[in-house]
Amino acid sequence: MERTLALKITERAVALNFERCGIIAVDRMKGYGEKVAARIRRFPESEGMYGRFMAFADPRQQFPWARSVVVCSWRYGVYRVPEGLDGRIGKAYLFDERRNPQSDGYRARTTLERYMTDELGLRVASSHDYGITSCRWAAMAAGIGTIRRNNFFYGDHGSWYSLVVFLTDEEMEYIHVPTQKPCSDGCNLCVKNCPTSALAEPYATCGTACVSFLTNKARNEALFEKHSAQIGEWVYGCDVCQDVCPFNRGQLSGDEKFSGLTELADALSLEKIVAMDYDYLRDVVAPKFWYIEPEDVWRWKRNALFALRNRRDDHYEAALRTAREDSDERVRALAEKLTKGPQLHS
Ligand code: SF4
Ligand code: SF4
Repeated sequence: MERTLALKITERAVALNFERCGIIAVDRMKGYGEKVAARIRRFPESEGMYGRFMAFADPRQQFPWARSVVVCSWRYGVYRVPEGLDGRIGKAYLFDERRNPQSDGYRARTTLERYMTDELGLRVASSHDYGITSCRWAAMAAGIGTIRRNNFFYGDHGSWYSLVVFLTDEEMEYIHVPTQKPCSDGCNLCVKNCPTSALAEPYATCGTACVSFLTNKARNEALFEKHSAQIGEWVYGCDVCQDVCPFNRGQLSGDEKFSGLTELADALSLEKIVAMDYDYLRDVVAPKFWYIEPEDVWRWKRNALFALRNRRDDHYEAALRTAREDSDERVRALAEKLTKGPQLHS
């Protein structure tokens, strides 16, 4: 077991401003497969979503040379949430560094990867978008934090972290002793406050009912409309089960600006989204909030219309008038339906 190498990697990660870095043998990911299978048994309607995560339990299927998983936590709770976006866009997406080369997190990740390959001579695989193995499972196994009842990863500063994983061809481990206290026995706040009851019980989230999925990935309009009254004012993501958590109290310092966000924030009021030019949606909004693909950007308007309806103020009728003149027929049709359809005004 090459501990010196593991120590070098974890120390370099911390020097690059990752809060923690741990390393586990790749075989420790196997337990994740049982977790996914249990989730599918509990929520069979989500099999299509969770089934593809099975491969995460055995990264060696795709990377036969992989021997260890390096996992690092990046604290995004230091960034300021621009006015008007809190409660509308999930913070993990606001501060998503994965496709943002100007962000500190992106630079830290690419620098650490280059260090492992160029200076330490390791073979390394990483995925900058959706991941190559379960980041949360790896982080928990490496002891750099814990998973709470809302299923989110928590480090020393609540749950406001992104996680980065790398596979390497070196057999090594660096496992921390976790320092987080468990959830208190009586606490049920995350489950109780989940707007769609997607978090049906502790540690059990039905992915296809989660507002994050509904607003940024779901292509099933009937499913979206079924939950539309519960989605509230969220247009992309949802933080409710994290916002209500006592372990997140005071953990958003907001000390730093996130690269490129302030300029964009002004454009993202609900009314402005409904009236937004499609070139702007495709060229400016979609590259940052990339879970909604450029060909699906009309869904920003769908989400904003429902959010305005749920807000129940004077701007809704004006937004419906704007949407009825939209260049995309799906937005026009939705506006007509919302204008006429009492069944949607729940
Ligand atoms: S992110 Fe929102 S919808 Fe999803 S489980 Fe948490 S509270 Fe529920
Ligand atoms: S809200 Fe309560 S039960 Fe849920 S994760 Fe936080 S401490 Fe745990």
